[in-house]
Amino acid sequence: MKYITLLFFCLPSLLWSQQQGIEVFSEKTDTAINFYVRSPFYCHYTVEVRYEVFENMTSSVSLPASFAIEPLAKRQFILSVKQKPEARSWKYKFQYRFDQGNLLNAQHDNAYAYLLPYKSVRAHKLVQGYFGKFSHFDTHALDFEMPEGTEIVAAREGVVTAVKEDSKEGGASQEFIDKGNYIMVYHSDGTFGSYYHLKEKGVLVEEGQHVKRGDVIGLSGNTGWSSAPHLHFEVLLPSTETKRTVPTQFLLSNGKSETLQEGRSY
Ligand SMILES: [Zn+2]
Repeated sequence: MKYITLLFFCLPSLLWSQQQGIEVFSEKTDTAINFYVRSPFYCHYTVEVRYEVFENMTSSVSLPASFAIEPLAKRQFILSVKQKPEARSWKYKFQYRFDQGNLLNAQHDNAYAYLLPYKSVRAHKLVQGYFGKFSHFDTHALDFEMPEGTEIVAAREGVVTAVKEDSKEGGASQEFIDKGNYIMVYHSDGTFGSYYHLKEKGVLVEEGQHVKRGDVIGLSGNTGWSSAPHLHFEVLLPSTETKRTVPTQFLLSNGKSETLQEGRSY
């Protein structure tokens, strides 16, 4: 049997992350070529495989197809292909792309009661709420006014997937949008909690670390697109296109779970 050289074209999504890292590789047996995925990431990823050329071959799944890749997968099987025995020549050429998160079944648990994402002796005003007019136009995001250095806690348990703490720049215009320090936490329902505008060196956790609800994870700041010291918090669903944020309920000191209202203090 003769196999045509395998060609891959990798088209990583640049929407959330420019990290490279998902690797699709093949192993040949006597009767088939098996494809596996290796991932260095602490959250699920979704790999979409499609073929450009596929002549006189059969595939164990019809393509294009998407596969949810486990966090830190070392050798996750996704599909195999075979040559049609009666054919004289065979060709195949695959493309794949990968996106952060599990696009196949992530679904926000709307009943989850989040903790307020800070540990503080006094209440903080919600200066901008969902669809706020300063910068939250079409997002479910929350801005809590607070002095720099306020302790930020995990609103929900999860695994830290990304951090940035090397910026000291911030300002009230969109040009600072990439200068914000942050922590991203991956939740069990496939959503991500995002804690933004942290101070320089204000990240107290590491990528891959499991955090419990209420753990202190960082210190607030004023980096990035920010007109005054505050914490920006949002919960995201994975997406290949525009950012998808979800509304969340918070457990308040009165024991009730509520959606927070702009202009009120919590
Ligand atoms: Zn904000």
